[in-house]
Amino acid sequence: MRILEDLPQIKCDCGATLEYGSSDIWNDGMMLYVTCPRCNRNIAIEEMDSVTINNISFPESFHDFSQGKKISDERTTIWVKECLKKLENGCEDFGTYQFMSSGDTFVIVCKFEDEYEITVGKKNYTTYIDRYKEEQ
Ligand SMILES: [Zn+2]
Repeated sequence: MRILEDLPQIKCDCGATLEYGSSDIWNDGMMLYVTCPRCNRNIAIEEMDSVTINNISFPESFHDFSQGKKISDERTTIWVKECLKKLENGCEDFGTYQFMSSGDTFVIVCKFEDEYEITVGKKNYTTYIDRYKEEQ
């Protein structure tokens, strides 16, 4: 038996009505999405909050990904290796670090003069600040 929760709902273009919780939500840094289990379409559910350098505060300005999709240890290890490989190959997309994140996990590898600092975060809080948006 299952207690019916009062979860938000959204209708997909394929006709399915989806009920979603925080563990179903993912983001690309700009928008929050859910993925339809019937047709695999990504549906934008909301724009990310307008957090600024001046109004940011923890935890209010952050999205809590503790209930995000659980990323396996195997997948996490692959991400660590991918980040290391990019830095070893001189890829500096983000400067002298690489990161990957999804669901409840993030990996960040910082390149220092004689070592790599590798941090894995599980159940993290993340937020984004638009660097080019005018202060309201
Ligand atoms: Zn659908």
